[in-house]
Amino acid sequence: MPRFARNDESRRILLLAGTSEARALAERIAAEARDEAIASLAGRTSAPIALALPTRIGGFGGVEGLKRYLVDERITHVIDATHPFAAQISANAQAACAALALPLVVYAREPWRPMAEDRWIEVDSNLEAVHALGGAPRRVFLTIGRQGVADFRGAPQHEYLLRVIEPPEASDLPPKCEVMSARGPFTRTDEIALMREKRIDVVVSKNSGGALTYAKIEAARELGLPVVMIQPPPRGGVAVAYRIDAVMALLAS
Ligand code: NAP
Repeated sequence: MPRFARNDESRRILLLAGTSEARALAERIAAEARDEAIASLAGRTSAPIALALPTRIGGFGGVEGLKRYLVDERITHVIDATHPFAAQISANAQAACAALALPLVVYAREPWRPMAEDRWIEVDSNLEAVHALGGAPRRVFLTIGRQGVADFRGAPQHEYLLRVIEPPEASDLPPKCEVMSARGPFTRTDEIALMREKRIDVVVSKNSGGALTYAKIEAARELGLPVVMIQPPPRGGVAVAYRIDAVMALLAS
């Protein structure tokens, strides 16, 4: 794997963003003011929170498009700070950086680990999560974001509470589904109150890691509820930094 070879003013960073971690990293890079840097968002959210760096929005056009962009913009370093479940852009970044021999560092949230009192059912995909819910009707708190909701149409016997920042297409929803639009962070107390009020039997979550959405996991633990936990896709051998300082150290090495 290529190392961050240059330690001079010629660094031009592409920060693949779309997470609160990327936002914090953008602030740090902007504050240090030693690199030229541009952030990139997919454009999924109609009103994204502004980043501290100049920001481009929209896909690159696959690996080839990303390679073109990296060459055209004379990017020297790529930081992938996208969501752990954004597997496509991460794979594209890996392929493009490998082809151009550019250094790539992944800045990710450390996945959550179950505690003794947690009742997790760990699965590797949405479809496995659907299966894990079982045949008998249950009241399901679905907190996996907008994408992949349609998979739960395969289990129409359950009643779902879907919490999302922006609602999916109506055609993606399972038949019995209440949609709640909200952007975290949420407190443990609020999560407990919500799960009680909605008489939730089981929570479905991605193992996204980080503090911002962990309250629902604590709430489920406190209420003794099972959590179907979808594990993140593998990172394919790329170096992963879990802290901003580690990213900055890699950049400076
Ligand atoms: P994905 O499946 O990995 O990516 C699909 C396509 O979207 C990519 O091939 C790329 O298009 C474009 N794309 C994704 N991230 C981009 C970025 N930062 N800048 C420019 N283009 C980007 O990603 P996803 O799961 O749809 O997630 C999209 C964005 O939402 C990501 O930035 C991610 O951090 C954020 N997000 C995702 C989740 C989640 O659970 N998946 C949760 C919270 C936030 P081209 O091939 O055309 O370049």
